[in-house]
Amino acid sequence: MTDAATPEARGVPDAEWARAVSALDRAGEVCLACHVRPDGDALGSMLAVAQALTARGVQRVTASFGDEPFGVPATLRFLPGLDVLSPPEAYPERPEVMVTFDVASVDRLGLLAGSALRAAELIVLDHHESNPGFGTVNLINPGAAATAVLAAELIDRLGVPLTAPIAAGLYTGLVTDTGSFRFSVTPQVHELAARLIATGLDPDLYARELLDRAPFGYLRVLSAALGRAVLEPGQAGGYGLVWTTVTRQDRAAAGQLPYEVAESVIDVVRRTDEAEVAVVFKEADDGCWHVSARSKGKVDVARASVRLGGGGHSRAAGFGWCGTVQDALARLRSLLAADTEPDGGR
Ligand code: 5GP
Ligand code: MN
Repeated sequence: MTDAATPEARGVPDAEWARAVSALDRAGEVCLACHVRPDGDALGSMLAVAQALTARGVQRVTASFGDEPFGVPATLRFLPGLDVLSPPEAYPERPEVMVTFDVASVDRLGLLAGSALRAAELIVLDHHESNPGFGTVNLINPGAAATAVLAAELIDRLGVPLTAPIAAGLYTGLVTDTGSFRFSVTPQVHELAARLIATGLDPDLYARELLDRAPFGYLRVLSAALGRAVLEPGQAGGYGLVWTTVTRQDRAAAGQLPYEVAESVIDVVRRTDEAEVAVVFKEADDGCWHVSARSKGKVDVARASVRLGGGGHSRAAGFGWCGTVQDALARLRSLLAADTEPDGGR
């Protein structure tokens, strides 16, 4: 890692933090939003800041995400503070102050994109390299391991002490985006984890809830997806591509399981030694696909994903696709061949 990539070197300027704090202090109502189909980092960071703002004395805090239908993924329902959430239909059309969490581009807000574009003040809290800085205040640091790291800094700068319910969301974000302290691990990540655990939260609970549980039918879905995995050693610049699908049919046959059971299949597929890049096509209930791509470092999967209408990080990215899997694969194969970096990427 070069100096330019360290969190310190790429940090958010103090003046930008100060603008965010003063906008939040002045507001009578603060509206929070995270990306559609939220993961632990997006929802956890938002819930932590929601509780901190309430503790700070903000009169009204609204929090949502732009999914239709609206529902908290079952895997995240153990989080404290979910009662702050309301469906996107109830969201102000012209927020006075709006804050987005883990949202790399406006379209990732789904139904709430319009509110963001009309907000008088839009604070963007994020760690995606591809984020163009679409806010009036941009708290964006691609060197941060998770949006939760930036949410923790905002809470510190608001002068709100960390309590166990606030720490719950932040710890969920850290565990999610570091793959349970495997990726983007720095001394700062462990220092923050230590502060969060010191509030009294039980790390075992988070490991179990976030990583180590699923309904029995998940075994059937995983088995079907792994059984049809394809290894293409010549793809991704000769570094190898492994891919598979998780279909609606797989989920229906396993007991009408919700879409989110497909999310963790990539974590098994990407173990493949013979492939630098792993891709999982996850079919949603509407028949469109959401595609997860992972790289071990030699290939930048964010670049290919951006070209296909998505985004993410160089080693973990994704995009939506309403055509056939074979068409998406053809596009991916040619983009990945071009996005291979001989120096091993970043
Ligand atoms: P996942 O594969 O776990 O859904 O996502 C991996 C990473 O890619 C996350 O950082 C996520 O924010 C990003 N990502 C996934 N899908 C999309 C997408 O459709 N658009 C954008 N901009 N980013 C995405
Ligand atoms: Mn994140």
